Amino acid sequence: MNPFGGVVHQGGVVEGDPEDDPWKGAPPDLDPGGCRLYNSVLEMMPSKPPCRILPVAGRDVGMVALRRLQPGELIVEEAALVYVPDRLDREATGRLLEEVVGRMTRVQRDVFLALTDCRNPGHPDYLGRSHHTTISASSRFFTNAMSYGEDAGLWPILARANHSCRPNAEFVTRKDLGLQHLRAIYPIEEGEEVEINYMLMEQEGLEGREARQEYLRGCYDFECICRACTLKGGKLEAEEGLRRGLVAMKDRGLGRLTEQEVQVYLAGLYTIQAKLSYIFEVVEEVFLASTEAASRAEYGRHGRALVALMYGEGSPQVQLWEERARSEGCDAIIDWSEGRVVE
Ligand SMILES: [Zn+2]
Repeated sequence: MNPFGGVVHQGGVVEGDPEDDPWKGAPPDLDPGGCRLYNSVLEMMPSKPPCRILPVAGRDVGMVALRRLQPGELIVEEAALVYVPDRLDREATGRLLEEVVGRMTRVQRDVFLALTDCRNPGHPDYLGRSHHTTISASSRFFTNAMSYGEDAGLWPILARANHSCRPNAEFVTRKDLGLQHLRAIYPIEEGEEVEINYMLMEQEGLEGREARQEYLRGCYDFECICRACTLKGGKLEAEEGLRRGLVAMKDRGLGRLTEQEVQVYLAGLYTIQAKLSYIFEVVEEVFLASTEAASRAEYGRHGRALVALMYGEGSPQVQLWEERARSEGCDAIIDWSEGRVVE
C-alpha cells in the first residue's frame, strides 16, 4: 500500500491521483499556522518548554516566551523528526524523505504538513502543495532544515523560531545527546518573541542594514522588521557606524588586532547582540593565539562563561575551559553581559 494514497500500478510505478489528495490530512484553517497543533506538542514535552507558538505582528506565527528567560536557559530541546546525513545528495534525500514521511505517526505527519513551504514561491522548482508528494516533502524539508554539525535535519518546533538580526536565542547542536537545543543568549522578557539569527555572523550577520535586508530577501524571501532593521535616526546611525567598524576590524584579521582592539571588537559584538557561538569563536581564536598570561587568563574565563551558557554547567565543554582558565592561575568569574570580569 502506498502510504501517500496514490495508485500503485503493477509495474510498481507510483502515480498521484488528484482526487485522492495525500495532503488532505493537513491542519484545517481553524488552526491557522498550526499553533494549536504545535502547542499541544510543546505541552507534551517532558522538559516543559517555557514558550508557545502564537500569531505575531507582521509575521505568520512565532515563538513567544511564557516567562522571563535568562541567558543560558534551555528553551526547547527537540529530537530530529527527519535526519539527513551529509553524504546524501538531493535526489537521495528526496527518497529518504518519502520513506520517512511514510513511517510517521499521524501527529508527526500533521506537524510536518503544518510547516511553511515558501522559501521562494517564485522559484521554478517551487510546486507548493502539489500532490507530487516527494517534491512537496523535499520542498518543506529544505525550507525548514537546519544544520546538525556536518549533517542536516528537521526540528519542527524549533523551525517556528523567526529571524532577527538582533536575536535573543540560538540553536546549539548536541549530537552527544541526539538533540538540538534552543537556548536564550540574551535576556528575554515574558511575552517577547524568541528569535534566532539565520545569517552567518562573520558574513552577512555583521553587515549594515542594506546588505542584511538584501541577503534575507534573496535567500528567505522576506522583509526583515527586526529591532535592528527598524532603528531610526541617531540610533540607526550609531549601529551602522558600529557595524562598519566591526567589519573593518574583522577584515584586518583578528590576529592583527591589539589586545585593546580585541576588547573593543568583543564589546561591539555584545552591543549588536551577536550570536554567542560567534563571540565564542573569536574568544577561542584570541585565547589560542595569545602568549601573554594575563590575557590568556581573561580569555579563558570568558570562554568558560560562554560555553556554560551554550552547553550548560557540567558539560565537557565547560570542563575543558575550566582547565584552560585554571591553567592560567585565575578563578575570577566574568559578567558576560557586561563583557567584564567581576572581582
Ligand atoms: Zn533585521
